[in-house]
Amino acid sequence: MAEILDWAKDLLVSRGALVEAEEAGALRAMLSPELARALGSSDWLSLRFGAGAGSDDDGEWLERLGRLLPPDARVIGARLRHPRQAPAVDAGAVLDRELAVQNGIYRLLDDRPETARYYFFNFQYTIESDETSLGVWTVCLNASARSLVHQPESLLNAVRDNLEEDPEFAIPREELARLFPMALRGAQPEIRRLAAGIEQSANRRLARDTERIDAYYRDLLRQIEKRLSRRTADLQAAEKERSRAAATQLDRAAKLEDLKRKYSLRIRIEPGDVLVVPLPVLEISARVIRKKAERVAKLDWNPALGALESPWCESCFGRAHPLFLCDDRVHFLCKSCQTACPNCGKQFCRACHPKCRCGATG
Ligand SMILES: [Zn+2]
Ligand SMILES: [Zn+2]
Ligand SMILES: [Zn+2]
Repeated sequence: MAEILDWAKDLLVSRGALVEAEEAGALRAMLSPELARALGSSDWLSLRFGAGAGSDDDGEWLERLGRLLPPDARVIGARLRHPRQAPAVDAGAVLDRELAVQNGIYRLLDDRPETARYYFFNFQYTIESDETSLGVWTVCLNASARSLVHQPESLLNAVRDNLEEDPEFAIPREELARLFPMALRGAQPEIRRLAAGIEQSANRRLARDTERIDAYYRDLLRQIEKRLSRRTADLQAAEKERSRAAATQLDRAAKLEDLKRKYSLRIRIEPGDVLVVPLPVLEISARVIRKKAERVAKLDWNPALGALESPWCESCFGRAHPLFLCDDRVHFLCKSCQTACPNCGKQFCRACHPKCRCGATG
């Protein structure tokens, strides 16, 4: 259930909704009129999934939220003009050098040339404060190996001249719908990171302007104080000065509020084009072992990058590099998705359990 809720939240945020207070299993969001219309809901959307009474039907909402996915026209299928098989490399050496398993071992099974399906998801972002910054962030997922390309631009640059539109391309709707929220979850923290620099400089300007306004009103109030102390005998004049002081205070508060609004940060992320392209890889099969559990994994070495791709974290869909494994089901995890619970100190896998046994989230 946590998954559909996260997905709903990401999707709504990407479409400019204000997602409000969330308790476990529920979310509330304020939607723009267009968004509300697309979803067939009111401007205030309240969702609750799970077994309890009054829960929303997740099947129905998967379908409704699916309407917000990028429209078909923006999905482009391409292929290599001259596809070439991945060259043979020493797969054992590649794993030794690049897999970086932190808490388990692996055994190489075999390797062979394959073709993997890559999705390049573009997200347009707007970071607004007193200045506006626009850009595009690309997340590249290898759907075949369930891995994340670390530098999508490098991969695109390496193959771009050899790409042509694929006339037989059919949109893989199901896979696209499954991958889109993952790509979005990958893009959000990166765009937030880009916004951090803008936020810092906006905060600096806010502090400077606040100080200036403060100093100005401090002087004004000091003058009023002075006049007041001189006019204690004249009741009417004193009263006038007092109401002038109150008005000045109000004015000051309003000016400071305006400043805060001017420099506050707004981030908007909009889904853009998606490019789908099959590319040659060397598929390396390995048995990955953690204590008594194990799984067989397929990992792709990408010849255009000359690198092994890191699996995506099966909890947060970030890059699982270095790679951590969960004890029970050998989930592939990034460092932060298998750290100790901040409340009780026990380690747990965020892919197996949305919450720690002690009840704490995080
Ligand atoms: Zn993670
Ligand atoms: Zn705990
Ligand atoms: Zn797990």
